[in-house]
Amino acid sequence: MFRAIQLFAGSTLLASACVVQAFPTQQVVPGGLVILPLASQEEHRPMAYYAGARVTVVPEGDSWVALVGIPLDTEPSLQQLKINLGGVQQTISFEVQPKHYRTQYLRIKDNNKVEPDDDSSERIVQEMALQKRLTKQYTGEVLSTEFIRPVAGRDSGRFGLRRILNGQQRQPHSGMDIAAATGTPVKVVAPGRVIYTGNLFFSGNVVYVDHGGGLISMYAHLNQIKVKNGEVLGQGDYLGAVGSTGRATGSHLHWSVYLNGTAINPALFL
Ligand SMILES: [Zn+2]
Repeated sequence: MFRAIQLFAGSTLLASACVVQAFPTQQVVPGGLVILPLASQEEHRPMAYYAGARVTVVPEGDSWVALVGIPLDTEPSLQQLKINLGGVQQTISFEVQPKHYRTQYLRIKDNNKVEPDDDSSERIVQEMALQKRLTKQYTGEVLSTEFIRPVAGRDSGRFGLRRILNGQQRQPHSGMDIAAATGTPVKVVAPGRVIYTGNLFFSGNVVYVDHGGGLISMYAHLNQIKVKNGEVLGQGDYLGAVGSTGRATGSHLHWSVYLNGTAINPALFL
């Protein structure tokens, strides 16, 4: 059996039916997320997939709902979520609305971080594959979607900014930057398990935390890392300190959030 349900995001019916205090804010735009009701909780937890990646499914009221991350490079259009409900395949459609992101011009002192040499390029390719693996993890179920701010400080770079570095166009900004003094403690935003710590070419000293069910957070440019791979953290536990390692113009935390392997705007979780 194949059934298509049309849901138009942005409709107040959809929004009001799904919003729970602990849920992220729905913003059905590139780099945002859509919250879609799938089935009654009397059914087994459905499996949902978007663009081939497994999607976070959580209980809400008496329903199962999907939290779907929308990639920044999505063209505004009708998109499809595939669900498997007790062996029955279904499709749910949602409309992605346009969003304009501003351009940010930055001057990076170390030009190798903008125009990498051959050795660095090789390293970058390997690290991109690693980051893809880390952000696509789907383990168990989501522990919590209620986040705290990882560090106090001024927002110094919004998610989604189109970036011109030393006059060259580069990837748009995949997280939120918070300016803070070197050494300021960084807290984990929700309970989870550390799945990677290390030093990456662009991110510098970095920690990845798996919050279960396809929800991942990442903390970059750290001065110090205080946790180990595999460590289980409670919300607010310190994982490291703010720094400027990797490609950074000054001391700040770069914080990213991923759903279904897609970087989305962390501000939607605050
Ligand atoms: Zn950043």
